Amino acid sequence: MVRSVLIVEDEPSIADTLIFALEKESFSPTRVATLSEARSAIAASEFSAIILDVGLPDGNGFDFCKELRKDSDIPVIFLTARGDEIDKIVGLEIGADDYVTKPFSPREITARLRAIFRRLDKSGRHSSEASFSSFEIDKCKRQIKFKNQTLELSRYEFGILELLLARPGQVFSRQQIMESVWEDPDMSLERTVDTHVKTLRGKLSAIESGEEYLLTHRGVGYSIKDEND
Ligand code: CA
Repeated sequence: MVRSVLIVEDEPSIADTLIFALEKESFSPTRVATLSEARSAIAASEFSAIILDVGLPDGNGFDFCKELRKDSDIPVIFLTARGDEIDKIVGLEIGADDYVTKPFSPREITARLRAIFRRLDKSGRHSSEASFSSFEIDKCKRQIKFKNQTLELSRYEFGILELLLARPGQVFSRQQIMESVWEDPDMSLERTVDTHVKTLRGKLSAIESGEEYLLTHRGVGYSIKDEND
């Protein structure tokens, strides 16, 4: 099965590199340089995934992703500027599936694409069963249920858990957590993340003590267990 991938990138050299890499891996790339072209392309044909630059001549990729997410769950990989942690976090929060930082190697992109398609194939195969998760999140009410019990969470605990749940299995560093959850991250110590994680973990184990869901990665950060693994 040939997967068609829409590349939205205004810089010709990057677009060419991507096209070359994708074709080499037997994907079928289509390239556009603006958001308005992207809208027309999506209206005209179906794509398996979108590689989306953040800075485009007629708008930014984040807004476009939000727009897309209103009626589509097509996989989106963001191309973000170098070292911009905030961009990455924002990207994941608004529903991107992955991100790659410029400059990237073409193999990095094709590996991410394959990983996304693998995940999709996996969940697609099991689509008749409900996807297993111990957590239920209600973003409007800012409420999270764990094992069908509503957790009483502080603002920071909610923010941390919400962020981790957006990407089960992915490790977030303390700094990433701070930048995403705290309004004024420079004013706090990264150690306060540990404190909130500790109380959060206590609340989870009060409901279920047998298994660890909130994982510590020493010297790196925290993640939520990927229950579909
Ligand atoms: Ca650009």
